[in-house]
This record gives sequence, C-alpha cells and structure tokens, in this order.
Amino acid sequence: MRKVLAAQEKGAIGVILVEDVHNQSAVADFQAQAANYWPAQPPRVERYTLKSWSDGVRIPVVQLSVAAAERLVSGSGRTLRDLARTAEARGGVTLVALDVAVTMKATVDHQTVQDRSVIAVLEGGDAALTHEAVIVSAHFDHDGADGPRILNGADDDGSGTVALVDIAEAYALAALAGQRPRRSVIFAAWNSEERGLLGAWAYTEDPMVPLDRIAAVVNMDMIGRDEKVQLGGGGRFRGLEIQTAQSNSNATNIIGTVRAPALRTAIERANQAFGLDLRFRYDNNASNLMRRSDHWPFIQRGVPGVWVHTGLHPDYHTVNDRPEKINYPKMEKIARLVYQASWDLANADDRPRLTPLTGSPREISRP
Ligand SMILES: [Zn+2]
Repeated sequence: MRKVLAAQEKGAIGVILVEDVHNQSAVADFQAQAANYWPAQPPRVERYTLKSWSDGVRIPVVQLSVAAAERLVSGSGRTLRDLARTAEARGGVTLVALDVAVTMKATVDHQTVQDRSVIAVLEGGDAALTHEAVIVSAHFDHDGADGPRILNGADDDGSGTVALVDIAEAYALAALAGQRPRRSVIFAAWNSEERGLLGAWAYTEDPMVPLDRIAAVVNMDMIGRDEKVQLGGGGRFRGLEIQTAQSNSNATNIIGTVRAPALRTAIERANQAFGLDLRFRYDNNASNLMRRSDHWPFIQRGVPGVWVHTGLHPDYHTVNDRPEKINYPKMEKIARLVYQASWDLANADDRPRLTPLTGSPREISRP
C-alpha cells in the first residue's frame, strides 16, 4: 500500500504488482539482521492507518502472475528476476522501457466489515499491582471458505483459542477458590489476525489498560501440531530448516524473548513441571516469523511479548488443517505451561523489560 501511494505521488497512472521472485538468503550478521526484525526506532507503521491508506489510492492497482509479468518485461531485454534483484539494491531500478502497451480497468467496491475482538479481564489481587496486567491471547479468525473448500483452521488458531478459554476458566476457578495473581490478567481473543494482525493492532491503538502497564503478552497461535518442513515445501517455508514432525513431537517454539531474557526465564521455569522441548530459534530468522502473529504489535509498542507456536507444517493454511491432526497431549501441556507462566509473570515482583538494541536498522528487505 505504501509503495502504491509513493508511486501515485510520483505520477504513476497505474501499478502492476508481482510476487517477489528474488530469493534472498539469510544474513549471518545477527546485530544487523536483528535491527531489521527488532526495530529500535518507533514502528514503521506509525498509526493504524490501513483504511486511510486505501482511501488514498486513486489509480488502478492490479496483481499479475509471475508468468505474465515475465512476458511483460521480456521486451526490455531483462528478466523479471534480474529486475527484482536490481530493485533490492540501493538506488533500485530506474525507468525501464518495456515496449508493450497495457490496458488496465479497475473498479473499487468498498465494504466496511465490522470487526470485534473479545476481551475479558480478571482483576489482580494486590492493590498496588492490580492496575498492571498480563495479556494471554489467541486469534479466533481464520481464512473462511472458498466455495465448498472450508478452511477449518484447527491448528491456526482453533488450538490457541480453545486453550485461551480453558486458561481463562482455570483462572476463574482459582479466583472462586480465593486465589488470584497480584496483577490483573487480560484474556484476549483477537479477530482478523489473518488479515494482518488487525485486531491486535487496533487494540494497541485503543487499549483498555495503558500499554506501559502491561507486564507481558503471552500469545498462542498454532499450538497443536508438530512442526514439519519438507524439501521443496515452497515459499511459505522459506528460511526454515528441513525437519520431520517426529523431531518436534514434544516441542514448541517460543518466539520473542531475545530482547526479554526475564520472559524466557519465566517460561523455562514454568516448563520444569511439563518437560516440553522449548525452542528459542526464530527470533531472528528469514522466515520473518517474529512479525507474523499478534504478539508483534505489542513488541512494536515496547511491551515484552512472546509467541508460543508449535510451528508450520504442510497443512498450514490448507483445508487439511483439521482437528484429527492435532497433537492433543502436547497441546494440553502447552496450555498448562501458558497458564503457569502467565500466572508467574502476573505474580512476580519485577516485570520483564525489553533490552535496547545495539546497531542501527538497515533498509528492510523482505526475505
Ligand atoms: Zn494464526
């Protein structure tokens, strides 16, 4: 959207979008790379502005297949891959004559869709700390249906949503029995994660509890499967090592602790009772997992956050993400782990803090 607006500003009469065909390999320099994934500066998207951006687009914008785009640029004597690579260098591409005429016709049908997240609060038991809170979250939306093909999203994120309801019930039962942590706990079922973390972004714009009083966010998105990355799995698995489901049968990834060591410690300590294999490996990864779920808008606003995520698999975002494929015993352990860890965080004397990043952010190139 920002690229389209920038092009429009510079006089473009239309924009043709093509998938990035230039595969970038991961950069080994951790600090430089981490500065991309963990911007020390305020978020690049300053405000929750998608609507005002889309309203600002007045030129036709269309998406074209890679194959058609390759034919389109062939008259220039350069390949699409070559142009894509050049575009990622500083200075980018200047005008390239394609020697071809393109007719574009586009109409815009604006539909406003009401969107609601579901939030519940359990008040903390300590008068001095109850105005602070820990957020436990999951997203309840998925990708709907495409004709008769229903995307059930059992793992993504039925698993996290079910766990969220169970954890909230456990807290409520404990409170009935006279036990509650010192800080408050907010249970958030976000909507429209699949549309770009919209529910969580919107919440950070208008939070119920000021963000500087949030001790931590523990987000569950896909906690029901065993991560599996196959050879030739495609672009969705870019940056991830080939691995079998068996190697991850007792494992979950914990994403987001590299700048919040106290958060990692709290989760590791809670895990002593459950013995899960915790994998802290994707905070800085070309897969860009770090920014792919609802913990991210909070981290961008300076709130320590973590994503509990059992990992991608070939059924991810397909009709095969079904309940019979869930690893229920492991999912139960993860739900118990999140309950214990969130309780400990809500009860601790000190709050986790984000450590500052050293090194300067570079231009972000999409992996
Ligand atoms: Zn998800």
